[in-house]
Amino acid sequence: MKNEKAMYALTYGLFILTARQGEKDNGCIVNTVGQVTIAPNRITVAVDKTNLTHDMIAETGKFTVSVLSEKANFDLFRRFGFQSGRDVDKFAGFGGAGRGENGILYITEGTNAWMSGKVVSSIDLGTHTLFLADVLDADMLSEVPSVTYAYYQAHIKPRPQAPSEPSGKKRWVCKVCGYIYEGDVLPEDFICPICKHPASDFEEME
Ligand code: FE
Repeated sequence: MKNEKAMYALTYGLFILTARQGEKDNGCIVNTVGQVTIAPNRITVAVDKTNLTHDMIAETGKFTVSVLSEKANFDLFRRFGFQSGRDVDKFAGFGGAGRGENGILYITEGTNAWMSGKVVSSIDLGTHTLFLADVLDADMLSEVPSVTYAYYQAHIKPRPQAPSEPSGKKRWVCKVCGYIYEGDVLPEDFICPICKHPASDFEEME
């Protein structure tokens, strides 16, 4: 038997994974950072190949992980998770970052620690690449507990707003961010104004 729900019993943290290539700083949200050995001190991170940060790490062999805390706000997820570094400078107008000795920005807002990694090996996982890295530098930023994916779902992600009054219209909710679209039909090419995900990530509400 294979009860897929068993997978939900796994817990995950949330992290901002940053890289720098040339003069370009970029970063993305990941949930798959873990320490795998203590001596040497090594971590792994799996990164979606469609992310620009993936390519930057593959080419430079360097990255920094900033550990998101329970103080992280949704704007941070929107900035680093819901847009592409190919379209925008994710650090434009952002004051919550410092530059580490490896030249890469770490995030000081809504985080409790950061660590820099030097890639020693990578495994092609199909949709993702798994990077294994030596931890070079690391520091603590606050004592606020690390955020978990479950905490994010319960306390940080915006809740679907309650309907003001029955309008007779149908409603679709964005499964990614909770935005609600109201109308007679959800256009096929609809893009969520908050998280930029397509109509296929919406589901009709009761
Ligand atoms: Fe959305």
